[in-house]
Amino acid sequence: MTDCLFCKIAAGEIPAAKVYEDDEVLAFKDIAPKAPVHVLIIPKKHLASIAEAAPEDAALLGKMQLLARKLAEDLGIAAGGFRVVTNSGPNSGQEVAHLHYHLLGGEQLGDIV
Ligand code: 5GP
Ligand code: ZN
Repeated sequence: MTDCLFCKIAAGEIPAAKVYEDDEVLAFKDIAPKAPVHVLIIPKKHLASIAEAAPEDAALLGKMQLLARKLAEDLGIAAGGFRVVTNSGPNSGQEVAHLHYHLLGGEQLGDIV
């Protein structure tokens, strides 16, 4: 999608502090971190949110979750505990309409659920 911020980051058109990249997924630091570690994990393929995910996206979604687990270990927040969360649609407060998992940790996180 041409006018999508995260598609532009995935394409390298807008810089980001990348922590992982392959042909299907990208992880980069959130520009306004809500915790000492705050990474966004996105598919390079445009999906507006998890509400658009289809059965054929199962492997991609699984890969993103396993990457969250791996990055939590690599970034030193796995032992202390971490959160993986995705917003979808207006009631969630989603600001960027390209699917992303937030990986948060490094301190005691406030309750949201
Ligand atoms: P949402 O509210 O859609 O779940 O989360 C969007 C996230 O993207 C926010 O945490 C926000 O700080 C982050 N963000 C917005 N614009 C940029 C940007 O240009 N670069 C990076 N790295 N993060 C961004
Ligand atoms: Zn996009």
